[in-house]
Amino acid sequence: MARESIDDLLERVLARNPNEPEFHQAVREVLGSLRAMEGRHPEYEDARIVAQMCEPERQIIFRVPWIDDAGTVQINRGYRVEFNSALGPYKGGLRFHPSVNLGIVKFLGFEQIFKNALTGLPIGGGKGGSDFDPHGKSDDEVMRFCQSFMTELYRYIGEYTDVPAGDIGVGAREIGYLFGQYKRITNRYESGVLTGKGLSWGGSLVRTEATGYGAAAFAQEMLGTLGMSFDGLTVGVSGSGNVAIYAIEKVQQLGGRAITASDSSGYVVDEAGIDLELLKQIKEVERGRIGEYAERRSGARFVKGGSVWEVPMDVALPCATQNEVDPDDARALVQNGAKVLAEGANMPTQADAVEILRDAGVAFGPGKAANAGGVATSALEMQQNAGRDTWTFEHTEERLVEIMKNIHADCLATAEEYGHPGDYVAGANIAGFRRVADAMLAFGV
Ligand code: GLU
Repeated sequence: MARESIDDLLERVLARNPNEPEFHQAVREVLGSLRAMEGRHPEYEDARIVAQMCEPERQIIFRVPWIDDAGTVQINRGYRVEFNSALGPYKGGLRFHPSVNLGIVKFLGFEQIFKNALTGLPIGGGKGGSDFDPHGKSDDEVMRFCQSFMTELYRYIGEYTDVPAGDIGVGAREIGYLFGQYKRITNRYESGVLTGKGLSWGGSLVRTEATGYGAAAFAQEMLGTLGMSFDGLTVGVSGSGNVAIYAIEKVQQLGGRAITASDSSGYVVDEAGIDLELLKQIKEVERGRIGEYAERRSGARFVKGGSVWEVPMDVALPCATQNEVDPDDARALVQNGAKVLAEGANMPTQADAVEILRDAGVAFGPGKAANAGGVATSALEMQQNAGRDTWTFEHTEERLVEIMKNIHADCLATAEEYGHPGDYVAGANIAGFRRVADAMLAFGV
């Protein structure tokens, strides 16, 4: 049987999915890592597992009409890409942001396959969302949008089929409206159909904090391999959403000094350490802009439109969005002596920037490993729903930390096994891939 090389496959996948740069970037990175496996697993090659994995099992695109407060009909586009169900129901968030398009949802769904596999829990990979922009919308508008979105999405999801959650622009409020509509339409209290739910209606303790806490735990493990800990280190965090806020909280608990936060308007630096209560008040309660933080906190300064990575820091935790760290940022991080970068967001570091960090010896933790704590805790929420149970905060956090430590160890062991010691990207991609590939192989074509 003729076998296709990784390079030929990559070329074919890119040509087959034109105008999807983020998807190309994600595929290029994973396939780049899988080169280390060539020749070692003829069984994967014969079944064309990699090629199959690059093609989503199902892609759903739908119209989302809704009525704004002025009575005008608005039309958005909804997506759900059900990428891979070899290990369990499709699992992954919904992103509501004007930048959302099919290519972005595919990149996120593709990453989710490997990330979810790394958690060791029974979840497949998927992602969805809409180009709807929740910013500046009233609660009623968000509710009507979510209801319309679910009026179409409900037919494709279910606790054994596909289990969405939040991502950028989708938090507890949106999950509530989505779950309410699913329950209304189906007449089922199917708690396990969505995760990130409120605590009184099937949600899990620690889910809100999980992505940020997990990223901090992963970075702590990375520091440990360098003989360091967060204690006394300066930490730069980008973003000011759910991931950033709880990464800052955990870094502070671990003894680090988190000094930055940002949003699309710019960033703030607070050398005394970010005042979390104030940040939560501005971003979670008031849904305001980050500049307000500097106005209300003496000693803090706001830099309009700048890049947070120009601030000297020991550890960088990009927690905003994809491709926010460019080559100039990477050079600034290297120049200022950064030792570790762990991605709290999905693919926040551009490929060229990763190269610069790697060449300079900065330890680099890719998002699919470092930010897996969110989806892992979603899987723990599903476990609690299936058992009609609720766990304590302590127990749930203990499970989360154990999972993050396992992922870290798995990445390093796999990188070593395949000849790339210390390379977390290779380790994460190969370890995640192997778990999914073995299941796919078992199922036959
Ligand atoms: N959106 C999160 C992620 O990127 C969480 C997904 C989930 O909990 O299903 O992994």
